[in-house]
Amino acid sequence: MDLDYPAEVEPFRTEIRQWLTENLPDGWGAPGFSMTRAERRAFNREWTAKLFAGGWICASWPKEYGGKGLTLIESVVLNEEFAKVDAPLRAAFFGDTLVGPTILQWGTQEQKERFIPGILDGSIAWCQGFSEPDAGSDLASLKTRAERDGEEWVINGQKVWTTQAQFADYIFLLARTDPEAPKHAGISYLLVPMNQAGIEVRPIEQVDGSADFNEVFFTDVRCPRDNVVGGENNGWKVAMTTLGFERGSSATTGHRRFQRELDGIMAQAKKNGRTSDPLVRQRLATAWTKVKIMQINGFRSLTDALNGTHHAAALGACNKMFWSEYHRDTMELAIDLLGMDGQILTGSSEDNLDRLRRGRDDYPVSDLQAAFFFSRSETIWGGTAEIQRNIVGERVLGLPKEPKAGATAGG
Ligand SMILES: Cc1cc2nc3c(=O)[nH]c(=O)nc-3n(C[C@H](O)[C@H](O)[C@H](O)COP(=O)(O)OP(=O)(O)OC[C@H]3O[C@@H](n4cnc5c(N)ncnc54)[C@H](O)[C@@H]3O)c2cc1C
Repeated sequence: MDLDYPAEVEPFRTEIRQWLTENLPDGWGAPGFSMTRAERRAFNREWTAKLFAGGWICASWPKEYGGKGLTLIESVVLNEEFAKVDAPLRAAFFGDTLVGPTILQWGTQEQKERFIPGILDGSIAWCQGFSEPDAGSDLASLKTRAERDGEEWVINGQKVWTTQAQFADYIFLLARTDPEAPKHAGISYLLVPMNQAGIEVRPIEQVDGSADFNEVFFTDVRCPRDNVVGGENNGWKVAMTTLGFERGSSATTGHRRFQRELDGIMAQAKKNGRTSDPLVRQRLATAWTKVKIMQINGFRSLTDALNGTHHAAALGACNKMFWSEYHRDTMELAIDLLGMDGQILTGSSEDNLDRLRRGRDDYPVSDLQAAFFFSRSETIWGGTAEIQRNIVGERVLGLPKEPKAGATAGG
């Protein structure tokens, strides 16, 4: 593992730093900096436009599709510099982290030309239609059907836990297109317009009062025949690509967010006079150690990618399992440190919270309470921690496969 960055990337690092200094709002990141919700919304809109104008969204993508064609190490430097100052670096998660790279890898030329520009500038909102009531970890058991009718697919079935379906223009959806084929075959990956009769979106309210995800029902929904990504009945392989992006996306920078958050938790512990408690000290030290492990594992993932050794799926599974369990445990510690204060709603409806999932205005959780609630879901989405363990067991440690095949999924 080489911990030094090549000298050639330093001018690029300087360019990014300068751009950030010139473009971030005054006082960004300074103690006490805050925005009202209205200000945060306006900032999000303006920031996406600035990122787009600067060419920073998906800058690793080829120039012909609107990227800057950055090398891997340049992309890492870009991610690092944005992470250091906690500046967002995307238009929308589902578009530029999941379906965009999937279309680039598997899509036809026509699909790339049609969808990639709207992903880059954030003008097409996406959601992910993988999970179903009886197909989560065992995703290949999905039952939603797509049948050909001339130049169209006709879709019937149900998805569940579909995050942001209520705002989406398109859903990237897995449907069974050959019911006679074995369960991993006969699935296709379709890009389906959401704004049409036959799609019903029903929000599911979560523990903090927010309703980010939904049930989505499909009754004779139509989609052009050409909107299959990666070929008919080849959807399983395409879906695994998407899940790889979902699990591996923040491997090299994730630890920065956790370090910043942990610094805040340590400060809170000191303020509450809890740092003399040996059990608290032990839990804090464990958390600190785990953030360091994430940093080192990030370097491992980077080295793997640079060397082309292609252990990405296994490393992605290790990372996803590790950070999500770390975060769940650390959020519990943070709430414990607040004592009774942790049990009351200390947020306000004007909090600087739009980037976190949060409850309704009449259920004002604080930043930390919102992060605590959300941390409970992090060991589930994108494939549960148990499923990641199965992947690590089978693909890293070479253990025998589970008796019943098929459980390596998530959305
Ligand atoms: C916040 C959030 C957002 C989400 N957003 C989306 C989205 O946008 N689109 C989408 O398609 N899905 C989404 N999901 C769904 C997510 O992908 C599934 O919840 C996840 O894959 C698990 O499936 P399940 O809920 O059906 O649980 P199940 O698969 O029923 O699992 C139940 C329990 O059994 C365990 N288990 C199951 N199989 C095995 C096994 N083989 N070995 C060991 N343990 C096992 C699991 O680990 C889990 O603890 C989201 C989930 C969450 C929490």
